[in-house]
Amino acid sequence: MSSASFDVIVLGLGGMGSAAAYHLAGRGLRVAGVEQFTAAHDRGSSHGGSRIIRKAYWEDPAYVPLLLRAYELWRELDPALLRVTGGLMLSRVEEPVFAGALASARAHGLPHEVLDAAALRRRYPSLAVPDGLMGLYEADAGALLPEACVRAHLDGAARAGADLRFGARVAEWAPGWVRLADGEILRAPRLVIAAGAWARDLLGLPLRIERQWVAWWPPRAPDLPLFIWAVGAPAARDIYGLPDVTGEGFKVAFHHGGERIDPDAPRRPVSAEEIAALRAVLRTHIPALDAEPLAVSTCMYSNTADENFAIGLREPGVAVAAGFSGHGFKFCSVVGEILADLVCDGGTRWPIGPFALDRLA
Ligand SMILES: Cc1cc2nc3c(=O)[nH]c(=O)nc-3n(C[C@H](O)[C@H](O)[C@H](O)COP(=O)(O)OP(=O)(O)OC[C@H]3O[C@@H](n4cnc5c(N)ncnc54)[C@H](O)[C@@H]3O)c2cc1C
Repeated sequence: MSSASFDVIVLGLGGMGSAAAYHLAGRGLRVAGVEQFTAAHDRGSSHGGSRIIRKAYWEDPAYVPLLLRAYELWRELDPALLRVTGGLMLSRVEEPVFAGALASARAHGLPHEVLDAAALRRRYPSLAVPDGLMGLYEADAGALLPEACVRAHLDGAARAGADLRFGARVAEWAPGWVRLADGEILRAPRLVIAAGAWARDLLGLPLRIERQWVAWWPPRAPDLPLFIWAVGAPAARDIYGLPDVTGEGFKVAFHHGGERIDPDAPRRPVSAEEIAALRAVLRTHIPALDAEPLAVSTCMYSNTADENFAIGLREPGVAVAAGFSGHGFKFCSVVGEILADLVCDGGTRWPIGPFALDRLA
């Protein structure tokens, strides 16, 4: 069986792997990229028209330096990939979505506005604002176009000489080589594994793979920027929304709360009950959007127990990026740079301590 040699192999060319291939090829390395499906496919976690990007990160201020770099790199790649819409983080004052966003904005001196319920009602007539709701508005927040982002990274990698293989599934790997399902062996002293939900089995990581679904609604709320809203009972889940940046409608979905799935199993279609549950939330919170959805789609989250990422060297020469827990896409550009640093230099200047692989054990 044939074999070929490279400086580095990138396993998985979704959001993270496409960015890693781009940075590695840009540094002059001979890169092989291996993807089981097509370029910018819809069977992993990096599809669906739009992804939120924001800086006042309610999840943890530790992410902010990475976000600042991510914005810079996306704009260097192609300014058209990022559509600034402004963004609202909505919850009660003590809850993480508002309180965490405010903590991040203050810790890093990020421009922001704090809006109480009265101010929210004045500025956003489409929102049915309950008493006590607080909003943090960030003018820099916006939407990335994920399929175009993946393609831009892949095109850049190919232009820099990367050998990108699609429809090529890695059946087995070890430091120094991967074996494809057709038997071909690729060899390289460095390996980047960015396999998304498949990292669970490929690397034996304790990831909970979660089915998610999203819907596009007739865009009848022109006053709204993107938002994340801790809507509380009875939904007991956050919802998020993105204005119509792609011409497909206003996207709104629940964040988390989906069922555990296997990445290779056929995805259960979106049910009438699921749509009814989201419509009930829209009816009480954003009545203008309560209508039959224009379209629906499913996707996967790969969750770690603490919902922080898993990024690091598994052993010298083998870098891993996984467990993005439903909030990773905005970071792809900087994660690609970090993965290139890790396999080329054995470390990175970016603060990835909270993402250490050994905490997952
Ligand atoms: C509905 C939804 C909404 C989201 N919204 C946001 C958001 O607004 N903002 C945000 O920042 N993040 C968001 N996320 C999260 C974000 O999209 C993911 O964290 C990110 O896309 C993960 O990228 P990845 O490269 O790890 O996975 P993927 O893009 O799935 O890439 C993994 C790739 O590896 C390939 N692969 C796996 N195994 C093999 C193998 N053995 N051989 C060859 N190829 C292999 C797969 O085919 C796949 O292409 C959302 C996710 C979902 C599902």
